Amino acid sequence: MPAGRFAPSPTGPLHLGSLLTAAASYMAAKQAGLQWLLRIDDLDTARNVDGAAQQIIDALEAHGLHPDAPVIYQSKLIIRYAEALTRLQHSGECFHCTCSRKKLPKGRPYPGTCRHRTTPVNDAAVRLRLRGEPITFEDVVQGPQSFDPAELGDQIILRRDGVYAYHLACAVDDGMNDIVQVVRGVDLLPSTAPQLAIMRALGLSEPVYAHVPVVTNRAGQKLSKQTHAHPVNVGAAAQNLQRVLSLLGLPTPANRTQTWQPSDWLQWGVSCFDLRRTQQRLPPGSGDDFELPSPT
Ligand code: GLU
Ligand code: ZN
Repeated sequence: MPAGRFAPSPTGPLHLGSLLTAAASYMAAKQAGLQWLLRIDDLDTARNVDGAAQQIIDALEAHGLHPDAPVIYQSKLIIRYAEALTRLQHSGECFHCTCSRKKLPKGRPYPGTCRHRTTPVNDAAVRLRLRGEPITFEDVVQGPQSFDPAELGDQIILRRDGVYAYHLACAVDDGMNDIVQVVRGVDLLPSTAPQLAIMRALGLSEPVYAHVPVVTNRAGQKLSKQTHAHPVNVGAAAQNLQRVLSLLGLPTPANRTQTWQPSDWLQWGVSCFDLRRTQQRLPPGSGDDFELPSPT
């Protein structure tokens, strides 16, 4: 079944910014008659926080965001990534890279140091060669995009510590789970070209992308665990949804009563959300006046 999805990493509880992405992906999927899936991106076990996945699932449920199929855990799909890696290696476009992060120029694309290595070595990452024409796509919110493979550099698909890279796992899952629409934060816009390169190399069909704005604090930083974002108060689910819908530019419903439940807000959202009219960026501090009413 064609679907949209929300794919959080279980590194902390749901905050206003992740709720906005979840709600946007949900409303866009439902509007398009798609299923809405929830995928927990838990491959990077060192970053996983105990209990965070369940906390996210419960918080989504409290907001009426019920996935249409059992929750997908990337940690249970290792065989899928192993097969994809083998296929990419057979294509002759992969090589083993032993460069340490320290040795590589900061903020610059991978310089291709190990590109010409043809034999496997131990204790190495696997990279996919990126070359050729610019990778282009039309983002529903951010407009036409073009990325030069030379500027992106050869991408790690298997990390040196043996963990499948986010780009590989995400590309394979989106392709294999029939994800036809990816709605996620604009901070992930630069991830799209590497993921498209992997999907194209594997012959997977490409979703439509819509990168929605991220919610920031006054300093312009994305709300995240690192910037100490408050978890959403699940006792105030209706107010939280009202807030993210307004951040997404939805009008205030005229016939609203005080008793609107999360499902009413979502229904309203599905009826009038328009990705094409969503702002590309939100002003700094859009998450700042987010009060946390007590659940009593
Ligand atoms: N799990 C990643 C994140 O939360 C990627 C999500 C995505 O591709 O939508 O940043
Ligand atoms: Zn290298």
